[in-house]
Amino acid sequence: MKLRMVMDELPSPKYRSRSMLRKKVRTSGGKLVTHYRRRKANKPVCASCGALLSGCWSESVSHLKSKTQRRPDRPYGGYLCSRCLKSFYKISVRGNE
Ligand SMILES: [Zn+2]
Repeated sequence: MKLRMVMDELPSPKYRSRSMLRKKVRTSGGKLVTHYRRRKANKPVCASCGALLSGCWSESVSHLKSKTQRRPDRPYGGYLCSRCLKSFYKISVRGNE
């Protein structure tokens, strides 16, 4: 009986992760239960300047898109913004003056 109660309270291992959002919900039967949801992913930002990357899809919908639609198809696409990549290339060619 006691073990049964513990098993009811313990969430499935996939729900124990803190990447899941927990929300207490009062059911129509008056019970307080926990509902689990995926957290919303942050928008992709440039690793150098922190600007929002354009042409990138968030992780939650990226599996619906083809690979070329997920991020720009160029070196450092989806990691650096185009402006930072341009200056990165200039520095690598000219040398850091
Ligand atoms: Zn940048």
